[in-house]
Amino acid sequence: MITLNEEQRITLNTVKQIVQDKIKPRAAEIDEKGEFPYDILEIYSLNGLLSPLIPEEYGGINSGFLLLVLIVEEIAKASASSALILISQADGLQPILLGGNEEIKRRYLPGFVNGKIASFAATEPWAGSDILSMRTHAVRRGNDYIINGQKVFITNAPAADVFSVFAYTDPDKRSKGISVFAVEKDAKGLILGKNEIKMGMKGCLNSELFFDDLVVPVENRIGEEGDGYNILMRALETGRILTAAQAVGLAQGAIDIAIEYSRQRVQFGGPICNQQCIQFMIADMVANTEAARLLTYQAAVHLDRQDRREIPRFCSMAKFMASDNAMKVTTDAVQILGGYGYMKDYTVERMMRDAKLIQIYAGTNQIQRLVSAREIFKYC
Ligand SMILES: Cc1cc2nc3c(=O)[nH]c(=O)nc-3n(C[C@H](O)[C@H](O)[C@H](O)COP(=O)(O)OP(=O)(O)OC[C@H]3O[C@@H](n4cnc5c(N)ncnc54)[C@H](O)[C@@H]3O)c2cc1C
Repeated sequence: MITLNEEQRITLNTVKQIVQDKIKPRAAEIDEKGEFPYDILEIYSLNGLLSPLIPEEYGGINSGFLLLVLIVEEIAKASASSALILISQADGLQPILLGGNEEIKRRYLPGFVNGKIASFAATEPWAGSDILSMRTHAVRRGNDYIINGQKVFITNAPAADVFSVFAYTDPDKRSKGISVFAVEKDAKGLILGKNEIKMGMKGCLNSELFFDDLVVPVENRIGEEGDGYNILMRALETGRILTAAQAVGLAQGAIDIAIEYSRQRVQFGGPICNQQCIQFMIADMVANTEAARLLTYQAAVHLDRQDRREIPRFCSMAKFMASDNAMKVTTDAVQILGGYGYMKDYTVERMMRDAKLIQIYAGTNQIQRLVSAREIFKYC
C-alpha cells in the first residue's frame, strides 16, 4: 500500500536496528524504574529521529508524517513509552511549527532536533475533553503576559525545556479567546507539581504545572491572540495519528510474542498453536491489526497531502480503532500466554497496561467517535 523512497527505507532500517540493539533490551527496565530514558532520547537525537516534521531550514529533515508513523510503530513494538518520547515531542513542537513566526521558529526548532524536549500543556483539572472550560488565563502587561492557572497530566513536563501553554487571553470569546505561549522551563512563576504514579507507560513522566504570575514575554506568544484553539485542534491531529501508530506497533509486538509462545507451549501433547481456538484468536488479532495499520497509514497520507477535508476524521478514526484494537490484542495476548502472560517476565502484561492509556490520551476514544461522526455527517 505504501512505497518508501530510498532515504525513508534507510531511516527505517536504522530504526529497526536501534530497536533491536538498544530499545528492546532496555524496555522492561524502563518500565520497572519509571524514569525518563535520557539515553534513548540521545539515540533519537543522534540518528535524526527527532526531526521528521521539522523543515530543513531549522535543522530537520521534513520527511513528513508517514515516515514518523512508521518510526513510532517500529519503536512501539518493543517499548510504547519509548515511542511516546517522539509523540510528546511532536505534540509539544507542533504549535510553534503551525503558528510560530520566523523568529520563534529559529529560536526553538533547531534545539528540538538536537534533543531539547518540547511539551504540550492544555489539559486542566476542570478541562479534559471539554477543553474550553480551561481556567488558565494570560493578561497582557506591557511587553509581557502574566499567566495564572494550572495544568495536569502533562507528558514529560519534569524533563521538558519548552512548553506550549494554552491560556485564555479573552475568555468571553470562548474558542476565539484562547492563545498559546512558548514557556521556557526556568521562567519565573512556573512551578512543577508532583510526578504522577501511573498504571503503565512508565518511561514517560507526567506531572502538574502551576502558573503563579508566570511572566512570558510578548515575543513568546505563538501566533496572534485568539489563534490558540485552532492551533490546539491542528496539533491534536498530530497526537492522534502518532498515538494510532503507537497502538499499531504495540499490538504487533504483542502478536509476535503470542505467536512465538503458542508454538513453544506444549499442552495435551502438542503446541497450543494447534488448538483451533488459539488459531482463531491469532487470526482476529492479526486481521484487526492490519486493518488498523492501513487506516493509520491512510490518515498519514492525508496529513502529508494536507487534505484538510479528510484529516480530522481519519486521524480520529485511526486513533480510536488502533487503540481499541491494541487493548483487545494485548489482553488476548495475555490470555494466550495463560498464567505466564500475567507475569512481568513475559512482557505482554506491560503491553496491556500501556495499551490502556492510548484509549484515553490525545482525546478519549469517545471523543474521537464524536469527532468522526461530526465530520462524516458534514461531508458524507
Ligand atoms: C498519562 C497521560 C498523559 C497525558 N498527556 C497530556 C499532555 O501531554 N498534554 C495535555 O494537555 N494533556 C495530556 N493528557 C490529558 C488527556 O488528553 C486527557 O486525560 C483526556 O483528554 C481526557 O480528559 P479527562 O482525563 O479530564 O477525562 P474527562 O474529559 O473527564 O472524561 C471522563 C470520561 O467521560 C467521557 N466523556 C467526556 N465528555 C464526553 C462526551 N461529550 N461524550 C461522551 N463521553 C464523554 C470520556 O470519554 C471519559 O470516558 C494526558 C493524560 C494522561 C492520562
